[in-house]
Amino acid sequence: MLVVSEIATLQRLLDDVRSRGSDVGFVPTMGALHAGHASLIKSSVRECDFTVVSNFVNPLQFGDGEDFSQYPRDLEGDNSLCEQAGADVVFVPEPEVMFPQLPDIIITPQKLASVLEGIFRPGHLEGVATVLAKLFSIAGRSRAYFGAKDWQQFLVVRQLCQELSMPVEPVACPTVREPDGLALSSRNRYLSDTQRAGAAVLHRSLMLGRQLIQQGETNPARISQAMAQEIKSEPQVKQLDYATAVDADTLNTPRRLSGEVRLMVAAIIGEARLIDNLGVAHSR
Ligand code: AMP
Repeated sequence: MLVVSEIATLQRLLDDVRSRGSDVGFVPTMGALHAGHASLIKSSVRECDFTVVSNFVNPLQFGDGEDFSQYPRDLEGDNSLCEQAGADVVFVPEPEVMFPQLPDIIITPQKLASVLEGIFRPGHLEGVATVLAKLFSIAGRSRAYFGAKDWQQFLVVRQLCQELSMPVEPVACPTVREPDGLALSSRNRYLSDTQRAGAAVLHRSLMLGRQLIQQGETNPARISQAMAQEIKSEPQVKQLDYATAVDADTLNTPRRLSGEVRLMVAAIIGEARLIDNLGVAHSR
């Protein structure tokens, strides 16, 4: 497995791969890799001839007072996980290679960034869209693998590729979870043992929401209320940001739920802000 840190080197390498008729799979990450990231890499390795993983903690997507400087970094561990998962190249650019100065052009999703994470983390989805536009233009024609764990981010990526006609096909992969349902996340490292046990409440709230929908509940407010109550009943939860049932594609809250619904939750436990979600098809 090659480790590349220069943009032009990666571009030449991937152009060369494509000129030989091979297709490229791309897995963008911020490092501190875990089995969730490994599952994306393995999907790419299964479906594409050549897999590149990027490992870059993107300063643009962290707000003031967020955890950019403490964000876990473990390059050696990350490279060995990538190699074991079958990646061909890891792209690890220095911050000054990616952003020699703060970019003047920021990509701003309008509707998709006006709800949920867009409200609680102003500027976050803009930072994500901007770095991905850059990474996609470096990677070139490819399939790009994302976790459904960050559902709103995936919708932004899908729209970015469609509206800007990027030669990138985004693919959503299932969320990898701990046995008690907690979604794997680099930020789970911030949790003490007690907080870690309490964090399973997020998944329990999603299961509760799903159960209500499966029983025929169509009122989104009733589902949100039940999920919020479940989360607030856990003493380790410091703050509930949202617990809601929305349309899976627009993230809007309809008057009555039907079709593809996404249950979305975000809460702060200890020092970690955790998000999770679940797709449920409403039979109505
Ligand atoms: P991050 O390094 O947190 O920016 O995540 C990089 C990619 O890994 C994103 O597409 C995430 O959605 C995905 N990811 C993070 N956690 C998981 C998980 N538990 N299961 C599947 N994919 C994940």
